[in-house]
Amino acid sequence: MKPEGFWLPFSRSHNCGELRESNAGETVFLMGWVARMRDLGGLKFINLRDRYGNTQLIVDTEDEALTEPSKQLRMEDVIAVEGVVGARPEDMARDDTPTGRIEVSVKRLVVLNKSEVPPFTITDEVKAHEDLRLKYRYLDLRRRPMKENIELRHRVLLAVRNYLDGRGFLEIETPLLVRCTPEGARDYLVPSRLNPGSFYALPQSPQLYKQILMVSGFDKYFQMARCLRDEDLRADRQPEHTQIDIEMSFVQEKDVFDVGEGLMKEIFQVGRGIRLDAPFPVLSYADAMDRYGTDKPDLRLGMEIQTLTEFFEGTGFKVISRAIDQGGCVRGFVVPGGAGIARRDLGELESEAKSLGAGGLLQLKFTGGKLSGQVAKFLGGDVEKRLVSGLDLEEGALLLAVVGKEPMVSTVLGKLRVDVGKLLELGRPDEFEFLWINQFPLFELDEETGTISPAHHFFSMPFEEDLIYLEKDPQKVRAHLYDLVCNGVELASGSIRIHSRELQERVMAVAGVSKDDAARRFGFLLDALEYGAPPHGGIAPGVDRIVMLLAGCDSIRDVIAFPKTQKAASLMDDAPSPVDAALLEELGIEIKRKE
Ligand code: ASP
Repeated sequence: MKPEGFWLPFSRSHNCGELRESNAGETVFLMGWVARMRDLGGLKFINLRDRYGNTQLIVDTEDEALTEPSKQLRMEDVIAVEGVVGARPEDMARDDTPTGRIEVSVKRLVVLNKSEVPPFTITDEVKAHEDLRLKYRYLDLRRRPMKENIELRHRVLLAVRNYLDGRGFLEIETPLLVRCTPEGARDYLVPSRLNPGSFYALPQSPQLYKQILMVSGFDKYFQMARCLRDEDLRADRQPEHTQIDIEMSFVQEKDVFDVGEGLMKEIFQVGRGIRLDAPFPVLSYADAMDRYGTDKPDLRLGMEIQTLTEFFEGTGFKVISRAIDQGGCVRGFVVPGGAGIARRDLGELESEAKSLGAGGLLQLKFTGGKLSGQVAKFLGGDVEKRLVSGLDLEEGALLLAVVGKEPMVSTVLGKLRVDVGKLLELGRPDEFEFLWINQFPLFELDEETGTISPAHHFFSMPFEEDLIYLEKDPQKVRAHLYDLVCNGVELASGSIRIHSRELQERVMAVAGVSKDDAARRFGFLLDALEYGAPPHGGIAPGVDRIVMLLAGCDSIRDVIAFPKTQKAASLMDDAPSPVDAALLEELGIEIKRKE
């Protein structure tokens, strides 16, 4: 084909991942980046890379037409070649790569663009510091593992769209410039030039809009929603994340669970060929805290937390008997085979327990048919007998227990359980244990300020039987609020929403939002609720975390093309940045420097 312009000598006939022995003899036109080069005096082997794979090129450097262009070649130059496909000699053929049985003898080589020496080599494993990878993200994304993550993400998004479309959901976009109605985190603000002194916010989620769409009668909505939260970033959080935002009318919890499960099954099937079993187990928040000391339990680990107070009745060990007398409890979990954990590791677990508020960590090993450990001989009474038979201890087990008051005891054990899981590598990365956690409390207490705020957001429907406590004892009120958890990671959150203005105002009032304040901030939603709002509910699975889990990555940044750092900065384009004074002037904004 004749080229249209000077920038390309010919059109590409194949990509670098598709040629096979059956193509032998064909003249092909390939383009890509120089990934490796080897000079064999008179012959140059070039490994040409593109998105689809790598193809070996052979350049006869003594061929006059090729001498010049091949002499100056450097790594990561982008080139175009015309050549003939041949089968590799048997002793050179490789079966670990799809194009390993062919090579292309180059007849023409055109350097399309040169490359500077890259700051790190583009290989699967990279030694470069992450900051350098982020600064040169375009090079980092050339690496195969990153490219595969981006491809996986694409497949996941496509699977979601197909699945939801098949179930009658409509993808509806909601605005990016919205009213400032902080949902918990801080809003990112955008000044309005046309309305000086006024600001838009970037949405923390499309929550209000999706509820309003239900009032409009779009009973099944979804959107790949970008959500922006100006938070102090904890590890593995991003200021912007993508969620599969879903809302449905005329539903109960189980209808939302059904869609959530179908969606996950589809995503895991399409993303990695994994068949998930559904329905997923459901555990109430109270049960999860009781059995695992966390609201995102990793079920792969086993090791349920149990109450052991009864077993310790009549113990001669003062620390325990005194704690029990003072209304405390003993709780713990059994680590099968844990008697082999090194003393140093146990010491670290104990320090962790203490740093979280425990007085100490009770460690009892069951070996040779009896319990041992620093305190074993002080247990006294029938404690040992009761523990061994009551807990069904098996040879080589370790019992870890904490004494004190709840919720400290369970929280500490919840953390230790995860630590032990890591230590013993109990959670296989290719095993996925999903569960729903529901019946969350509607409000949570801020320990520092002593005030309560909605556990998730203002809009979750309280349990009818708990409404009597709403004003009197709000922390007792449960809500139809649920999370989807997999392997200790919260993948989705959602709730059945309040659809009456009166109840919505009551809940807001309990959280300290007066009627006037509510009308000012959320008036448009409250008004909409008065025009035949149907019962509705929804959920929002997080794309980044799901892809991370599927890809088996440790960092969320590895599944986002252009992520930000922990300081919410983009190292590649250097955002955020100061702006021209003229721009600020136009917006009527003056910058006050913080001391
Ligand atoms: N809007 C909620 C969130 O962003 C999700 C939901 O309740 O659907 O976490």
